[in-house]
Amino acid sequence: MTLTDRLRAEFGESALLMGADIGSRYCSDMSGLGKSPPALVIRPRSTAEVSRVLRLCNEASAPVIVQGGLTGLAGGAAPLGNEIAISLELMRGIEEVDTAAATMVVKAGTPLAECQAAAAEHGLFLALDLGSRGSCQIGGNLATNAGGIRVIRYGMMREQVLGLEAVLADGTVVSSMNRMLKNNAGYDLKQLFIGSEGTLGIITRAVLRLHPPPGDIVTALCAVESYPQVVALLRRAQTGLGGVMAFEAMWKDYFAFNTAALRLRFFNEEHPFCVILESSSGAGATEAFLAGCLSEGLIADALVAHSQAQERDIWSVREGYPIETLPNLLNFDVSLPIGMIGDYAEACTAALHKRWPAAHVSFYGHVGDSNVHICVSADYGPGESMHDVDEIVYRVLGGYQGSISAEHGIGTLKRPYLHLSRTPEELALMRRLKHALDPRGILNPGKVI
Ligand SMILES: Cc1cc2nc3c(=O)[nH]c(=O)nc-3n(C[C@H](O)[C@H](O)[C@H](O)COP(=O)(O)OP(=O)(O)OC[C@H]3O[C@@H](n4cnc5c(N)ncnc54)[C@H](O)[C@@H]3O)c2cc1C
Repeated sequence: MTLTDRLRAEFGESALLMGADIGSRYCSDMSGLGKSPPALVIRPRSTAEVSRVLRLCNEASAPVIVQGGLTGLAGGAAPLGNEIAISLELMRGIEEVDTAAATMVVKAGTPLAECQAAAAEHGLFLALDLGSRGSCQIGGNLATNAGGIRVIRYGMMREQVLGLEAVLADGTVVSSMNRMLKNNAGYDLKQLFIGSEGTLGIITRAVLRLHPPPGDIVTALCAVESYPQVVALLRRAQTGLGGVMAFEAMWKDYFAFNTAALRLRFFNEEHPFCVILESSSGAGATEAFLAGCLSEGLIADALVAHSQAQERDIWSVREGYPIETLPNLLNFDVSLPIGMIGDYAEACTAALHKRWPAAHVSFYGHVGDSNVHICVSADYGPGESMHDVDEIVYRVLGGYQGSISAEHGIGTLKRPYLHLSRTPEELALMRRLKHALDPRGILNPGKVI
């Protein structure tokens, strides 16, 4: 009996998608890598079903790929060849919101936006927020240790979770559904799975940590003349304004490209940097703070959004969909000490322009949490490829002790460069962990390590 026959016998014909029934949706993630269909797609409805699928695949040493909302940007959920895709999309729903403990128990396939809305309905706040909120799933957020726009205030996904349940490659269910903020009883096993991009186990449920709602968030756009002033504005806002919820910087070329494409105009002149500053300290306090910064010359101009439409306009520039239409666009996600980001951006731009003088190179990012994204669109000559861009971006980064992935993960895209951000000893320990949890190497083979 083949593995497909065994899966069909155990779960029924309707549980499997095969051949032409596999929609293009399951063939790649938002990295656009791959695009080859998996051998089949199976969509379990419970932890017990995930366990049975994995047990059968492990017995047959069949490679599997774990798929959440498929919004990942590193190719982690994109099939490489003939894997069995395990999609979590039917494991959706909020099991419980505990307002006393400020926790939420959720199935891994639940979209982030659904969890945010459920928290708000109960007068609480789920702090993770990403542009992909409508499609990405909690399991995917955990597996990538997602960051997003609120990290500066609340930390990454790792900080939003108290417990989780995961299924190991051999089908063993590890239920570590801790609900307490404090629990030092031995190893914190959930940390094994957070950020492991589906290579150590499949996350099936989680206990999320909620917060009191931050109150009304005021969005401002500030024009700044130099990178040191961007950093000074951040520190001043954290001490002088308080309640800083987001701090997103856009370098001139990124801001100019997107505002032109979106037909938006915020300031009369161009400025080297524009910063989105969000705070929960109220409109009056924000306006007074900005007036002070303006009179001291820390910022060159500023505006405060007074409607949701104005907020949307400001954020649409940062989300930057127009830039994605550039040919051969590569989007990097690096981190380095905040004070060095300005110098890195200059050095990286110079190195890229030396090789491709006409290339579009622009920078934007969360910055307040040391994360910057780089957009590169170059016209490659014969024998050149996107890997030449990788090589330059990461070589320059090495001089600043940066990391090749701040928040998107390694997947397949950055796997060849992992050694640039991890020591040989760290890589060896990662391999030992992988072998201990998945000795047959069936979970997301070819990803991360
Ligand atoms: C418009 C847009 C904005 C974005 N903004 C941000 C941002 O600000 N910050 C950020 O960090 N990311 C961002 N992302 C990237 C992406 O949304 C995140 O990485 C997200 O956490 C991925 O979740 P997903 O459910 O789509 O996972 P997928 O893409 O399906 O999978 C990602 C990885 O996790 C694994 N995986 C998925 N589900 C599970 C599970 N249940 N158990 C084990 N492994 C699993 C997959 O195998 C894969 O390796 C953005 C993407 C887009 C398209």
